[in-house]
Amino acid sequence: MSAQLSRDDWKGRIGGLSYRNQAFIGGKFTASLTGKTFDCVNPATGQVLTKVAACEQADVDAAVKAARAAFEKGTWANMAPAQRKRIMLKLADLMMKNREELALLETLDMGKPIAFSTTVDVPGSANTVQWFGEAIDKIYDEVAPTPGNVIAMITREAAGVVACVVPWNFPLLMACWKISPALAAGNSVILKPAEQSPLTALRLAELAAEAGIPEGVFNVLPGFGETAGQALGRHMDVDVLAFTGSTEVGKYFLRYSGESNMKQVWLECGGKSPNIVLADAPNLDVAARRTAFGIWFNQGEVCTAGSRLIVEDKIKDEFLAKVMAIGQKMMPGDPLDPKTQMGAMVDETQTKRVMGYIDAGQKEGAKLAMGGKQVHIDNAGSFIEPTVFDNVDNRMKIAQEEIFGPVLSVIPVKDAEQALTVANDTIYGLASAIFTSDINKAFKFSKALRSGSVWVNTYDGGDITTPFGGYKQSGNGRDKSLHAFDKFTQMKTTWIQLG
Ligand code: NDP
Repeated sequence: MSAQLSRDDWKGRIGGLSYRNQAFIGGKFTASLTGKTFDCVNPATGQVLTKVAACEQADVDAAVKAARAAFEKGTWANMAPAQRKRIMLKLADLMMKNREELALLETLDMGKPIAFSTTVDVPGSANTVQWFGEAIDKIYDEVAPTPGNVIAMITREAAGVVACVVPWNFPLLMACWKISPALAAGNSVILKPAEQSPLTALRLAELAAEAGIPEGVFNVLPGFGETAGQALGRHMDVDVLAFTGSTEVGKYFLRYSGESNMKQVWLECGGKSPNIVLADAPNLDVAARRTAFGIWFNQGEVCTAGSRLIVEDKIKDEFLAKVMAIGQKMMPGDPLDPKTQMGAMVDETQTKRVMGYIDAGQKEGAKLAMGGKQVHIDNAGSFIEPTVFDNVDNRMKIAQEEIFGPVLSVIPVKDAEQALTVANDTIYGLASAIFTSDINKAFKFSKALRSGSVWVNTYDGGDITTPFGGYKQSGNGRDKSLHAFDKFTQMKTTWIQLG
């Protein structure tokens, strides 16, 4: 079991890794057409792991051509769903067989603790592939209630060529949330991983081929957003673009679509999620654990991070003391140490960004109650302490902008009514939480909170069966659950007039 491997065991395995560092197009690994590469860096040490193909317009054209040809050939798109299912189940199985390798690649590539890549990222990704594979031969189409001389069929068809542009915070998991329903529905897929974290996506391509996904059906293009990402967004022969990342880049994709072929664009963007703790919360210790996990899990690099703690004045000091006591035990450490709860920030740019917000919070007059410092481990890496700002005003930058780091902004309120107003006072609407023992308040808040997920007496609840996505500038469409198929299929009405 990987959980029992020590830090030295994991370090010992690094030498045996072989990095896939070329694009995967039409069933083969290939250098970028310009020959350009970029450095793939371990953020915990600053060391270059490998040089990865930097794909640009010509590579995107080649991948789209391969994907379109595979779609038209129909080997995958027209395959019996039960057979597609078998191949996807095999892929999920291969992912679990290679679980330790995938987990190590993920941790080296983006700095997250090995304890989580082995238990959350890789099994969660394999489960996603498995779940959508299992679903595909159990979904039926519809026949409409028309007059007797008509048969009207409402069918769902694969959309065609789907491009997925994903971020670096959960590289494999976010990729699988997109590609699994897209592949299961019969599409051809092109995946562009974030430039910070291409390694697991490239290994996944190889495993997909081994599982039997035909050539050209699943392609992976490492590269930069401005080049490879933009070329996918503007491509005239891409039917659907599914994205997870910042709201700023999500808006670019809407523009690219409008300026090209009006491809469907599905966005899962940022958040500034409110975590409301009322004085009648059933158990403050449980609420404190959920709150700490909600902001510091994955170094705070989580789109649903509970980055605004909205707490009733009368319990604020007691509650905050509990949250900070947990935070003190979550100081960052070597991501390869299985005891580490918080690893490295993904890169220097993100570290500087987060430190800039910590600076802004102090300048705006919030009280730095805990942390706030950058930490160097073994003289290398970008680590930041779990950080708490108290007495934050919701109009401050640290309450309005997505920090994407381990920074909690605490906003005291006088009562539940004010809590609700403050919670909804944001451009985002990805998730929110309310801790209360009053069933009326729980229902009232769950209706009134303007977000795609509302958690009651927990934080970050859900599994593959529940839809995930945002209101407002957190995006559109839903990942996970059967609803995810809506994004990757077209709905067709066939009206048959009987003689
Ligand atoms: P981005 O939104 O820039 O990156 C996400 C993906 O989009 C990456 O694959 C990226 O490629 C690509 N991309 C970037 N710019 C463009 C472009 N102009 N056209 C097409 N594709 C593009 O996130 P960042 O990595 O820059 O992080 C910045 C901030 O975004 C974070 O601090 C956080 O606030 C937010 N974010 C939110 C995430 C979420 O899950 N909601 C995930 C990641 C970040 P490349 O790798 O080259 O940049």
